[in-house]
Formats: sequence, C-alpha cells, structure tokens
Amino acid sequence: GRAMGIFTSGGDAQGMNPAVRAVVRMGIYLGCKVYFIHEGYQGLVDGGNSIRQATWASVSGILDDGGTIIGSARCKEFRERPGRLRAAKNLIEHGINNIVCIGGDGSLTGANLFRKEWDSLLKELVETKEITQEDADKYKHLNIVGLVGSIDNDFCGTDMTIGADSALHRVMEAVDCITTTASSHQRCFVMEVMGRHCGYLALVTALGSDADWVFMPEAPPDPGWEDQLCNKLKTTREMGQRLNIIVLAEGAIDTEGKPITSDGVRQLITDRLKYDTRVTILGHVQRGGCPSAFDRVLGTRMGTEAVLALMEATATSQPVVIALSGNQTVRVPLMHCVEKTLAVAQAMEAKRFKEAQELRGRS
Ligand code: ATP
Repeated sequence: GRAMGIFTSGGDAQGMNPAVRAVVRMGIYLGCKVYFIHEGYQGLVDGGNSIRQATWASVSGILDDGGTIIGSARCKEFRERPGRLRAAKNLIEHGINNIVCIGGDGSLTGANLFRKEWDSLLKELVETKEITQEDADKYKHLNIVGLVGSIDNDFCGTDMTIGADSALHRVMEAVDCITTTASSHQRCFVMEVMGRHCGYLALVTALGSDADWVFMPEAPPDPGWEDQLCNKLKTTREMGQRLNIIVLAEGAIDTEGKPITSDGVRQLITDRLKYDTRVTILGHVQRGGCPSAFDRVLGTRMGTEAVLALMEATATSQPVVIALSGNQTVRVPLMHCVEKTLAVAQAMEAKRFKEAQELRGRS
C-alpha cells in the first residue's frame, strides 16, 4: 500500500476531525500507512516526532470534536524554499509521497507550490547528499489532494467548505438568544459575523433570522444607504416591531470600498434615531463547539474521496481539491480553484464587485 500523510493548516474549522478520521480509516482500510503531520506545515518542516503513524484507534471518538486533534498552525518557514526543502526530506525519510492538506486558500496555494517544486527539491537533496538517488527515484511523484476547511465558505469550486455549516449553527443560536433579550427591551442589535471576502454567513443568518438589514462585502449598499436603513428601522418600529436585527459581515464595505463597521452602524442609529443599539461581535465563538451533522458527514465524505483520489493518482495527474457540487463529492483542479478564489478577493479589494460576483458564480 501507499504511505500518506495528513495535516490541517491555517484557521481551524469544525469538521476537520471527521475529515482526518475518514482519511485515516479509509487509508488503513485500503492497506495504506497513514501518518499524522502535526501542526500543519510546521510539523512538515520540523519532522521527527511531528510525523507519527496513525492507527485505527487514534481517531476514535473524534467525530464530534470541534477544532483539529492534530493541531493547526501558520508556518513562516514553509513560505521559503529552505523550509520546503526540509519538508521534502522529512517526507522522504518517512516514505511518504502522498499528502492530504486540509486548509484554506493559503494552505492550498502552499501545497500546490510544494508539488511544483518537488522535482527540483529532490534534485537538490540528492546533490547535497541528504537523500540517495534511489530514494529520489522511488518518490519521484508527490501526489496532493486538498480539502477546504473554512468557516467562511469562501472557496471557489465547492458549494460548501468544511466548517461553514457548523459556524452558521453557532451564529443562529447566538441570534436566537439575542432576539429573546432584544425584544424585551425594544433594542436594535448589530451582529457582526465572520467573512472577510465572503458574505455567506451574514446572508444566510439574515435570511434565517428575519433580520432587517444585511451588510456583506460582495454587495455593497447603494450610496445613501444610511437614510434607507434609518427609514426602514423607523417604519418597522412604527408598525409595532419591538426588535431590530442588523447582520454585518466583518469584511462589509461600501461602494467606495470603505469598511462599514458594526460600531459605525451603531453610531449612525443612535445618532439619528436614538434607539438603544448594541453591537455583538461573535468572533471565535463561530469556530467553536462540535461540528454539525452536515459537517460530520461532509468531512467524512470528502476525506474518503481524498484517499480514493490519492490511490488513483498517476504520474501525470494534477492535484485536486475535493468539492461538493450539488450533492455530489467531485474532484476539481486545485490550482484553478485557488487562482479563482484569489481573483475574487482581488477584484473585491479593487472594488470590482461585479467581476467578483461573476467569478464566484462561474466557479
Ligand atoms: P485561513 O482561511 O484560515 O486563513 P489559510 O490556509 O488561507 O486558512 P494561511 O495563513 O493563508 O491560511 O496559510 C496557512 C499556511 O500555509 C501558512 O502559514 C504557510 O505556511 C502556508 N502558505 C500559505 N501561502 C503560502 C505560499 N504562497 N507559499 C508557501 N506556503 C504558503
């Protein structure tokens, strides 16, 4: 069987553990050796005890745990070639040339670069006598499969990323709690949720909570929105509504690209309408807690498919990301999706909102 390594990288997300579990068990089931690489790319660069063989039992009881049991980190060294050189040596020492990377677009960009460089990394390692020519021939190809773990649901090419559904549950629970207290006191609440370039959490929360307004990066409000918002709130109050909810994505901007902040919105409402207005910033609560049923199953399906993709990889196959399309797990080209995701972020930052929307729509 083949030897494969698995690691989680970047920000953690609920559902990473179910994916790790699925990779380990599907790998073992198919006769492979599966290795944990602890702390993301840091473990790859450090080697030694950071790379440890997984057993069937080592992933027992983790299906319902949030976060990631093998740790996640950001790693500066891997961004530079010397770090990647050490990573390559460590993999070869363990006989690993198949990896599953669970992370966001940054982590997947790194994985793609690593694969592109693999040939030249091996060459350099042979020249400096760090590995033998025999090893270099044996591990000539590096097979990579990516899974997207991100609570923002911000990756082009998949309908859902691992963690987004659980985060949505956390947010909805919080909004439900706020709703109870807010309506007792006739309050207005500004709820800030995560999403730097993607308003998925904000939009779906707004739909699910009967919110009065939503701010999100891909759809900046028309100029003059301040009047529109205040008029809307005033009208609803006059009609007897006791509670106002405004949902705001952390990356919300106006048509000029200027940030719209939760505190700015609160200030506007208290200045103009004198309503009792409170801000709730959910922050890391959104990453916390156990994965939803959807994410447990999504992580399981994606992890299983990742192993199958590695088993079927040949010398000429390109790295893939396991994606959800409709209700099917499919394999999509890693680099294409990463490039598109970065292009959306860039378009948004350059205030080309239409282009960003179109790019995302055509994923
Ligand atoms: P999140 O969505 O939570 O930010 P992410 O995967 O995008 O997740 P990053 O911090 O961008 O998180 O990347 C995680 C790690 O991946 C980095 O610390 C670095 O080790 C590696 N990495 C990211 N981009 C590159 C790159 N261009 N080249 C090499 N390695 C990279």
